[in-house]
Amino acid sequence: MKAMILNRICNINENLHPLELTDLPVPVPKDDEVLIKVSACGVCHTELDEIEGRTPPPVLPVVPGHQIVGKIEKTGEKVKKLRKGDRVGVGWIHSACGKCRFCFEGNENLCAHFEATGRDINGGYAEYAAVPEKFSYPIPGIFSDMEAAPLLCAGAIGYRSIRLTGMKDGDTLGLIGFGASAHIVLQMVKYKYPKSKIFVFARSSGERDFAKELGAYWAGDIEDEPPEKLCCAIDTTPVWKPILEGLKNLEKGGRLVVNAIRKEEIDKESLLEIDYPEHLWLEKEIKSVANVAGRDISEFLELAAEIPIKPEVQEYRLEDANKALVELKKRKIRGAKVLRVG
Ligand SMILES: [Zn+2]
Ligand SMILES: [Zn+2]
Repeated sequence: MKAMILNRICNINENLHPLELTDLPVPVPKDDEVLIKVSACGVCHTELDEIEGRTPPPVLPVVPGHQIVGKIEKTGEKVKKLRKGDRVGVGWIHSACGKCRFCFEGNENLCAHFEATGRDINGGYAEYAAVPEKFSYPIPGIFSDMEAAPLLCAGAIGYRSIRLTGMKDGDTLGLIGFGASAHIVLQMVKYKYPKSKIFVFARSSGERDFAKELGAYWAGDIEDEPPEKLCCAIDTTPVWKPILEGLKNLEKGGRLVVNAIRKEEIDKESLLEIDYPEHLWLEKEIKSVANVAGRDISEFLELAAEIPIKPEVQEYRLEDANKALVELKKRKIRGAKVLRVG
């Protein structure tokens, strides 16, 4: 099968072709797994973190990609519900132990034996992928394969981020950064919390216009002061300064949720400017979100179909994965990038 593989960790600014097109054997599904013929795979910022070594794959080479959509071609002997021909999606969570405290609580994302699709196990930048039945999710019919792909990570993690803010209808929400996840979060919040005003902070005027089009109450630059304090905020940027800006704009008792698997090191020193009374005092909180548990993906897919959320998608061929990654790195983001595979 055709696959794009990562052979070595590198800096994408210096190497514009981090992945190599190659031919690999079609994976053989284990007893509890299904073999998916991949039709679409989303391109995520986490792939940059894998390639550049902030969350390095334990073994190389690896096939990246963790927003996989396709049809089941084959099922392992112990697969119970899913059948050949079913259309399913796969997210960042490939597997977890199923026995520990975190797994019992439905937080498999915190399990010590958590394995990530496309980092610890080959992912979806390929024509086929083998995935446990437990972490494959039927895709609602309303979505095309291309539309469904970004829902599986950007959407599901956005869903978890909103859950972790603890927000209620009427609470003001800040979205710091406006990439693939935030533009889905905005649509979700407007549906679930219609009385809440959403304030978007984004570097590019294109992103700010897009946020307004989607119904943001206000949109400004990262350093701009919003007209109201924020009960909660979600930071999806890859850098540190927005954390301080977010904390500064929080209402008393407000919570900032940082939705990033890793932050880049470039402006870490800006944290030294933290001022306790301005940024943290009066019971402000900061919390990170660690990717997704299974139920975030399944619950979110249902909600996304109900609203419905139709992500804006930029399409690339599998062979052009490097181009998509480089553009993502350069923050040429409007909506979500998806590889058309099959
Ligand atoms: Zn992702
Ligand atoms: Zn576990």
